[in-house]
Amino acid sequence: MLKTKEILDEKDKRLRQISKEVVFPLTKEDKKLIQKMIEYLTDSQIEEKAEKYDLRPGMGMAAIQLGVAKRYFVVVHEVEEGTFDTYVIINPKIISNSEEMIYVELGEGCLSVNRDVEGIVPRYARVTIEGYNELGQKITVRGREELSIAFQHELDHLDGILFTDHIDKDNPYAGEELYRAI
Ligand code: ZN
Repeated sequence: MLKTKEILDEKDKRLRQISKEVVFPLTKEDKKLIQKMIEYLTDSQIEEKAEKYDLRPGMGMAAIQLGVAKRYFVVVHEVEEGTFDTYVIINPKIISNSEEMIYVELGEGCLSVNRDVEGIVPRYARVTIEGYNELGQKITVRGREELSIAFQHELDHLDGILFTDHIDKDNPYAGEELYRAI
């Protein structure tokens, strides 16, 4: 089982690497890691489990957050209480996006950023992503609202970008009127 302390902290320079494209078939290690990521993200959103195993609640994780510089991420989205949609996307690319931009009003979060960070991170309200599943089959996934934000946040990790990079430090709420808060 993955432990919270295994997740790299924002100060760790490895998070700044550009992750490399995955070559199929997946290695055993990658398959195992993906299962651990799914398990962590799911359990972390179930209160009793999060408490019991000391997990930080999160809906997304990129491989680089565990020190593996490969282009894949997992998002576990709670669609209603106790019901989760799980996305494993390998070599993802945004192929289309809405013009409309949104941001998380309470501030975005990240399993690698262990503090509250205020400010606006503008994201597309809707995105379509193309990538591959664990079997190497091409997939197309659409996300809107918080799922869209999660996809963009995780994609950023693959390019060494943290959500905090998007925030104007002198004016964290700059451009507020241009985007819709969710
Ligand atoms: Zn993150």
